[in-house]
Amino acid sequence: MSLITLKDIGKIYVSENNIVVGIRGVNLSFDKGEFVAVTGKSGSGKSTLLNVISGMDSYEEGELYVEGEPTSHYLQSDWEDYRQKHISFIFQDYNIIESFSVLQNVELALMHIEDRKARRRRALELLQRVGLSSHVRHKGSALSGGQKQRTVIARALAKDSPIILADEPTGNLDSQTSKEIIELLKEVAKDKLLIVVTHSFGQLEDYATRNIRIYDRAVEFDHVISRPAPSAAPKSEPYESSHRKAHMVIKNGLELGAIKFRTMPKLSVFMCLLMIISSLGVYLVTALCGEALELMRKPYMFTPVEGRVVLVKSAGGVITEAELEKLKNDLGAQSYLHYDYLLDMTFGFWTERHDWYSIECVFGGDFGVDVGKKPEAADEVLLYLPITFQPEYGKSELKNKLLPEHIIFSDSFKVVGVKYYYDNNLSPKIVFTEEGFKVATAMYYLNANYSDFSLAFSLSDSYGLNKSFTYNGSYLIPSFTLPENSFSVYQKEYTEAKNTLKMNQEKAQADGDKDYTSIKTVTFSGTVRDFQYYGGGYYYGGRYYDIDVTPMPPGGGYGTESKFIKDISGAVDIDAPSAYLWTRVLLSPDLMTGLMDEYFAESYQQASLFFGSFSQAHKKATQLREMGYVAVVADTTMDNGMSGELILGTILLLGSVVLWVVVIIFLAFFVSLCSSRAIMAMKGDLAVMRSMGITVSVVKAALYAQMLINLIPAYIAIGIAAAIIYTNPYLNGTFTFLYAWQYALIALGLLIIILRVTRRQTGRIFEQSVKKTMRGAAE
Ligand code: ADP
Ligand code: MG
Repeated sequence: MSLITLKDIGKIYVSENNIVVGIRGVNLSFDKGEFVAVTGKSGSGKSTLLNVISGMDSYEEGELYVEGEPTSHYLQSDWEDYRQKHISFIFQDYNIIESFSVLQNVELALMHIEDRKARRRRALELLQRVGLSSHVRHKGSALSGGQKQRTVIARALAKDSPIILADEPTGNLDSQTSKEIIELLKEVAKDKLLIVVTHSFGQLEDYATRNIRIYDRAVEFDHVISRPAPSAAPKSEPYESSHRKAHMVIKNGLELGAIKFRTMPKLSVFMCLLMIISSLGVYLVTALCGEALELMRKPYMFTPVEGRVVLVKSAGGVITEAELEKLKNDLGAQSYLHYDYLLDMTFGFWTERHDWYSIECVFGGDFGVDVGKKPEAADEVLLYLPITFQPEYGKSELKNKLLPEHIIFSDSFKVVGVKYYYDNNLSPKIVFTEEGFKVATAMYYLNANYSDFSLAFSLSDSYGLNKSFTYNGSYLIPSFTLPENSFSVYQKEYTEAKNTLKMNQEKAQADGDKDYTSIKTVTFSGTVRDFQYYGGGYYYGGRYYDIDVTPMPPGGGYGTESKFIKDISGAVDIDAPSAYLWTRVLLSPDLMTGLMDEYFAESYQQASLFFGSFSQAHKKATQLREMGYVAVVADTTMDNGMSGELILGTILLLGSVVLWVVVIIFLAFFVSLCSSRAIMAMKGDLAVMRSMGITVSVVKAALYAQMLINLIPAYIAIGIAAAIIYTNPYLNGTFTFLYAWQYALIALGLLIIILRVTRRQTGRIFEQSVKKTMRGAAE
């Protein structure tokens, strides 16, 4: 039985609008040991014949038998098996992969050897046989034509296929090299079927055992020159087609993909950069668009604390503590807050870096601590701040223990701890203890009222100084008038008394008088309700005077002779050279809240009840309404129509959504285009691999692997960007913080684009026959 038999074979090329006959009515059979020279004029059909025999092109008429088996029913996978098992092909234009080294080119044909070392050893052996030992590391593109053909021959040997087909293998070589190549072919193809196409028979005359001449697409003559020596070689080993097993496909694919990635550095660098730029681009526009979303936030009537119901009596009037307690029990609320005013206030302040922030006041809650400790005392607070503040407040040790300036509580509360967050959508918070929150509310509520007050100072010492002054003030915020005369008396006498005090102190010091004592007191009189303080103070006589009302630190040890505190030591800085008179009235937290209850309850008619969730709150609010309250759940947005901010926000949001979509589409398109091009540029290499019988699945797997490797630097870049922004407080202030899932989404997006493009392109490439792909690549 012949190795190959062609029976009435016809090949027809169908192109757009005409049909061309490639070969027709070919009846031939071939056996092992033959060296067949196929000759004929250009265009006569020699290549077509070879391509049909190799299974790289289809045939339309007749039947091709392989070891007696017909092949007309073959599917692509059958042809792959056939090429893998039987065929080695040598082209005129050297079908090696130019970007691979000589060694890699040969190893490509040895993928079935699983052990890499064994594979390498075998490849080196073969290269020695074709005389290329000294060129194993050379890149394909750096070889001469003869060396390229030697590489291809080594590869053919690697496969140890029974059939070697060579289409004008010496067509591009000089005569001396041609002779060497033919001799080499003859030598390596001893027991095989070797078919060589040539247009000059002279070259093969000395070696060929048979000469077939093609004329006008048909066999003109078929001369047997000499009978091949009867081959002692056994029938070729049935090829174990492990190359179709899934794990081999993946293993070989990955390996090949990695080699391709490495051997095409320019393309790889370009693709990696492309991926990095596009992933970071997506990140940047996403971050940018986050800003616009921020502006779209709805204005809330109250700070939307989950489960909070804000109460006012429908008929008006004060809600008493007892009433609240009863409501809490009756309705099953978790807690209540009588003076909840502060909960809805925000305070603006500038940071050292001149960024503007607004800070909310809250109490309790589990915020955790990054620096310092949790607040315990009434005058201690925790700051819940964006990570931007880390340089200002410290990383491991609390740096600045004061509240940001301009916050009304600045020097009444100590910052004892800070918790940082990375989410730019959150707003900073001052976290009070529950007690502290009451104090702060009282302070704020006091400050938010206006009226009259009188203030009495006294300065006295053991040398007989005893002076007291009274100031009766009355002013309105923000513009007010001072009763000039009353203050001027106080001012003049106060200055005199201060000087006396200072003289006496100096005298006592000079005399070494250890018993000398000085007492500075301020008493506070009038109705507290009428008391007014505002963080500004007032101008008088070209000077600025400032009075603070401050809750006394717990355990501050001040006497409480009257309800209102009197000590101003350390607060009125008598010895200060500046003309700045700073008076402070210190009230204990108890007193402060006491004041609230006693004097402000009448005017404070609101309170809050807390239920665990919004839905609970809504249910209970309905109940409360039936009970005669105006009850509002604190997730109610203000119905103030479209504010300017909202309009601006909408425009910005629309703008940025459009920008986002445009950028994303552009990047996706760009990435797709570039990767398509990259894949197309490798078409030739892919065809070479296939011509060797490497299965489509392995070549595809290699392509996927190569494209996915391109993503790795992009993923690393995204990771680094995230890490930098995450750990660098300044950057975090500038760039919107993205969540892990958002980074994951960007990564996934890239992955999908790459997979899609690869799928589409491989689909396109591999639906064609090998021959067609090669032609396409050559164009
Ligand atoms: P040779 O190798 O002897 O020079 P070929 O086998 O390449 O000749 O070509 C035989 C005939 O088939 C020629 O007339 C050629 O024009 C035609 N042919 C070859 N390939 C194609 C193709 N892809 N499409 C159309 N016609 C083709
Ligand atoms: Mg040809």
